[in-house]
Amino acid sequence: MDLLAGDLNLFWASVSLLNRHPKGLVIPMENHPEPECHWRLPSQGGDHVRMTANPILGAIAQEGGRYAIESLGLGELQPGEARIRVLASGMCRTDAEAFGMVPLPAVLGHEAVGVVLEICEPLGDVNVGDRVAVSYPSCGHCSACISDRLWLCESNWALSFDGCRHDGSKPIRWRGSDVSSAFFQQSSFATEAIVPMRSLVAIPADVPIDVAAALPCGLLTGTGAITNVLGVPPFGVCAVIGTGAVGLAAVMAARISRAESIIAIDVHEDRLRLSRELGATHAFNASGPDVGEEIRHAFPDGIPHVLDTTGSPQAWDLAMSQLSRGGTFAFVTTPEPVETYRISPFDIFLKVATLKAVLLGAANPREQIPLMLKWWAAGEFPIERLVRSYSLDDINTAAEDSLVGRTIKPIIVMPDPSEGDPLA
Ligand SMILES: [Zn+2]
Ligand SMILES: [Zn+2]
Repeated sequence: MDLLAGDLNLFWASVSLLNRHPKGLVIPMENHPEPECHWRLPSQGGDHVRMTANPILGAIAQEGGRYAIESLGLGELQPGEARIRVLASGMCRTDAEAFGMVPLPAVLGHEAVGVVLEICEPLGDVNVGDRVAVSYPSCGHCSACISDRLWLCESNWALSFDGCRHDGSKPIRWRGSDVSSAFFQQSSFATEAIVPMRSLVAIPADVPIDVAAALPCGLLTGTGAITNVLGVPPFGVCAVIGTGAVGLAAVMAARISRAESIIAIDVHEDRLRLSRELGATHAFNASGPDVGEEIRHAFPDGIPHVLDTTGSPQAWDLAMSQLSRGGTFAFVTTPEPVETYRISPFDIFLKVATLKAVLLGAANPREQIPLMLKWWAAGEFPIERLVRSYSLDDINTAAEDSLVGRTIKPIIVMPDPSEGDPLA
């Protein structure tokens, strides 16, 4: 059924009648004598019972680039998974790109913050009732995972974009059939999600949900590019091309790293102003005719650390032209896998330069997310300057605002089940 905004209350009322529970938690509808998984609900003290498909509300990404709010069914947990109530989910550029990468229709969303409702053994270090952020997936078995470099997991791409679990199963049903889901192994544009325990990062419950939901992908990437990939040192010089959420996170991380010169480059004056407020010492508008000359005038020896967050060929030209001898150019995206760039291998060789692709900030979420929260708590990482919240039924507005640059970091806030429950 298609659900419009005004139908949310009706939906929750129907969910409530099916699974009514005084604390608002969904309780099992069916017991099995010998469950494969051990369900641990707080109300049941760890009794072993099994769930049937569980009605939730979520955004279905459709051909044509729009979302529809729909009633969905959440399937059963597999060992090593948790079911979470999603409180909010960040939206990043990968969600927009996913319309062309994931089999549609699909449930997207990959920056969840939520509360653990139940877990399926093996038990991890996160428990029922914990507040968690959900970051990117990793298999746990490959050599990269074993050596604790999760961003290099050989299954990263498949686990993120295949629209299913590693075994091919899909955790979400729509209109009676399995639907493309497990996006980044979370599909968090929904009121509940099934996620791998190993993707969970416990976070303090008093962190605002719009702050926490900004962290798991885009900000992890931007900060990690500075701290883990470029390793910008104290008194160093760095440039950030493109000051969206990833770029602004990089600017803030460079300031926290006590870089002496932080150069923000963008085509939007308002973003450049914000960059300066967040720590950039220099700002250049790349739409000007002589931006390369202007930068060279200010930094005649070149810039040793350059990060591009745009993926545009012009940005790469600018980056390579401004890079100092021995410098490192890091990039977080390319516009198309088939894109060719005009940079010359000989120029790279002459400059003794290094090119580095940045995936997920070369960061382990259980280290980088607490680090960002520590910065935030100290007032050094004002995430609230980047985020804007939208209700789930306003998700198309969020996507449009993000696309045209009206909003830096949209956060999709899920409806509270208790608000629509007349019996609660
Ligand atoms: Zn792996
Ligand atoms: Zn992302």
